[in-house]
Amino acid sequence: MIKVAKFGGSSVANARQFQKVEAILKEDPTRKIVVLSACGKSEENPHKVTDLLYLCEANQRYGMDAEPIVKLIGEKHAEIIKELNIDFDLEKEMDEIRQIIKQKKSLDYLVSRGEYLSCKIMAAYLNAQFVDAKDVICMNYDGSFDLNKTKEKLQPYLEIQNTLIVPGFYGSLPNGNIRIMSRGGSDITGAILANVVDADVYENWTDVSGIYVADPRMIPHPKRIDVITYQELREMSYMGANVLHEDAIFPVISKDIPIQIRNTNKKDNPGTLIVNKIENDTSAAPITGITGKKGFVAISASTRHTSSEVGFLKKALEIMEHYRISLTSVVTGVDSFSFVFSKEDHEGDIYSVLSDLKENLGCDDVSVLEDVALICIVGRGMKSRLGMSGSVFGELGKNKINIRTISQGPEEISIIVGVAEEDFEKAIEAIYHKFITAEEGK
Ligand code: ADP
Ligand code: ASP
Ligand code: MG
Repeated sequence: MIKVAKFGGSSVANARQFQKVEAILKEDPTRKIVVLSACGKSEENPHKVTDLLYLCEANQRYGMDAEPIVKLIGEKHAEIIKELNIDFDLEKEMDEIRQIIKQKKSLDYLVSRGEYLSCKIMAAYLNAQFVDAKDVICMNYDGSFDLNKTKEKLQPYLEIQNTLIVPGFYGSLPNGNIRIMSRGGSDITGAILANVVDADVYENWTDVSGIYVADPRMIPHPKRIDVITYQELREMSYMGANVLHEDAIFPVISKDIPIQIRNTNKKDNPGTLIVNKIENDTSAAPITGITGKKGFVAISASTRHTSSEVGFLKKALEIMEHYRISLTSVVTGVDSFSFVFSKEDHEGDIYSVLSDLKENLGCDDVSVLEDVALICIVGRGMKSRLGMSGSVFGELGKNKINIRTISQGPEEISIIVGVAEEDFEKAIEAIYHKFITAEEGK
């Protein structure tokens, strides 16, 4: 049995959290590979080390003194070291950070120092084996992972009879340079390591007791999901449930490794289990989770050609491709279609797209809706319930929420509705209360 356990930033935010991680690891020695994030926010210290490191770089870039921020980083770690009462040469590490800034070494190298430090301190505290991610996590120049090389590099460390502590969030390129991942990337490091060691389970320890039906920042005390499929979670995380990085699912899916989301602050809570397939899954509730995001634009066009002219939609999609717009949702009707995409990335292209659709493609009528929020209702149990979409739309109508776009994936495990951003929270609450709170009371 071998487990990979990843602990997020809040799980290593102060000395007390380090002790909780220690207790979790002591309880189960099969937790052989431990991945940590950089120290996150705590009540006494509101700074996230990764944010501070980015800030150092920005200061340096604009010719401002980064030293006050370096000092904050130092103080945060010094407190932890002092409370844990360990022998650790923090000054040496802080001097390295100062040198990286002074010599304008790469941003990736600088920002990676957060996870490097939290892991160095944890390894010293637990007398465990520190394994630098730059020596084992092998990345290609395009940001993808070289799993074979990673496996080969990790092999010698697996023979060490000790827990391995590996920093998340970064790896190294073929030329040896450090490369960071996107924000929240330590989840990916854990998934990569789980893949290469064929882990029995990938535990992801965080500050919530699993994945909830809805974002706890929006719905107070939402219900916890006991078990969810990779596919459902992928839909949820792509559409905003950022409890797990969306790219952390692929490396474990390919090997069918279950992921368990658990709470460092409530270690006995079973959390949420994420699996490929649920055996004897007859009692699935229609809705597993509700999530969503703001910041979309919907461009709609109506034309007689949509269904009658072969290749018409392809031409419309080519216009989107021309502007390199990646689409979140495509909805087609007999005489119309709409494309939904992120506003942030393509705000400057909206009017050119409208003009191309009208002038070059000959659409009769084109329109744009800005400030759209997408709400994604996910559930493997929806397939077997007739009239689910109707009930969702009915509930939104009852709450006087206008639906701007509707789409349903071919697998029928999700329904995505677009509403005005100002209706976003209200719509999530309405769906939650209708399908979760009210169902519970039955
Ligand atoms: P970590 O630092 O441990 O990686 P994150 O902050 O990345 O943790 O993810 C955990 C957070 O995800 C929770 O604190 C919670 O606010 C947020 N979150 C968003 N949607 C959900 C959801 N559906 N269920 C649980 N947590 C959610
Ligand atoms: N420390 C990085 C971040 O804040 C990576 C992570 O926490 O997973 O994004
Ligand atoms: Mg995270």
